[in-house]
Amino acid sequence: MSEQVDCVVVGAGVVGLAVARALALQGREVMVLEAAEAIGTGTSSRNSEVIHAGIYYPEGSLKARLCVEGRQRLYAYCGERGIAHQRCGKLIVATDAAQRGQLQAIARKAEANGVHDLRWLEGAEARAMEPALHCAAALHSPSTGIIDSHALMLALQGDLENAGGMVVCHAEVQEAAIRPGGVWLRTADGTELTARTLVNAAGLHAPLLAARLQGFPQQFVPQAFYAKGNYFTLSGRVPFSRLIYPVPEAAGLGVHLTLDMGGQAKFGPDVQWVESPGDLQVDPVRADAFYAEIRRYWPGLADGALVPGYAGIRPKISGPGEAAADFEIQGPQTHGVAGVVQLLGIESPGLTSCLAIGAHVAQLLA
Ligand SMILES: Cc1cc2nc3c(=O)[nH]c(=O)nc-3n(C[C@H](O)[C@H](O)[C@H](O)COP(=O)(O)OP(=O)(O)OC[C@H]3O[C@@H](n4cnc5c(N)ncnc54)[C@H](O)[C@@H]3O)c2cc1C
Repeated sequence: MSEQVDCVVVGAGVVGLAVARALALQGREVMVLEAAEAIGTGTSSRNSEVIHAGIYYPEGSLKARLCVEGRQRLYAYCGERGIAHQRCGKLIVATDAAQRGQLQAIARKAEANGVHDLRWLEGAEARAMEPALHCAAALHSPSTGIIDSHALMLALQGDLENAGGMVVCHAEVQEAAIRPGGVWLRTADGTELTARTLVNAAGLHAPLLAARLQGFPQQFVPQAFYAKGNYFTLSGRVPFSRLIYPVPEAAGLGVHLTLDMGGQAKFGPDVQWVESPGDLQVDPVRADAFYAEIRRYWPGLADGALVPGYAGIRPKISGPGEAAADFEIQGPQTHGVAGVVQLLGIESPGLTSCLAIGAHVAQLLA
């Protein structure tokens, strides 16, 4: 006999925890099953920790909608719960006159997405804000910020547990099947459960888990691709107080400068397509390309100032050369299986969007 549970969420990253919290606050019994020894050891601890404004995404996409809503919810939540964050703002820079058109296109996209606070700056105006910056023009986004993502995850876990939910670590879901009474699951230690509701928030492994779910229509399972993002940290003092982004590139937002809550500056992430979701080493040789890209907007970057940092892997569902896919949040209305929600391709801005994703999933299952 397997234990009966109302809701199982697979994955205790920031998205799984936010979904679990939202379901628990609706009064549902929620258990989060996490393969690792602790919460938030996956992509949720390997990102830029930026609260995105919602600027870049195609109009009407889930990324655009959930980022803008998620950012508003997140700032409010940080305020309520005392989670360390800073609304430091960012500059998106055109490093030469030829990129001014790209900046104008970004400004139009932001407007369409409901981001109405961007301000156009000529080069001299931008340099008055950030004297070390080289640029022909810039967009200032005052509602972009940074957050302590671990403090956020601890707060989400706290809310979940206060509402009667629980997180079980060392509980990798290895087998799953759709059965008449719900979704049957078996974890690595042989524990069996049957859940009325299953939310797959397994991040990089979500497509694999969806493929393993026996009885789930496989035409809804996308192929997984892995786009690694490497970071280099700056040794020494950083002369910027805002985040600095170049105009975006195909699979990422360009090698940008971000600050963390401790004031440490880091550059990245670049884009390196890899075969394995476990490929997390930073190759020091990649620093050469970083110096070249960063010096386009910060010519004063000294030789030897970049130190290999860490890497995160984007859980992509579109491959090299393809347009970035939207978040794929599949509920029963999409695939026809009652009680199952698949969260696929939850790359950036997944951290910013987590509370909005939680509300959206709770609504899909209501
Ligand atoms: C380089 C990079 C930079 C980014 N920067 C930003 C940013 O600045 N701002 C922003 O908003 N977003 C950013 N993102 C996106 C953001 O980090 C992710 O969208 C978010 O962390 C995804 O959270 P998650 O909970 O879906 O996945 P994860 O954090 O990966 O959590 C999934 C969890 O599932 C567990 N798991 C997997 N399989 C199983 C299984 N079978 N059984 C049990 N558990 C399982 C894993 O151990 C893991 O803990 C960035 C992403 C990357 C890669």
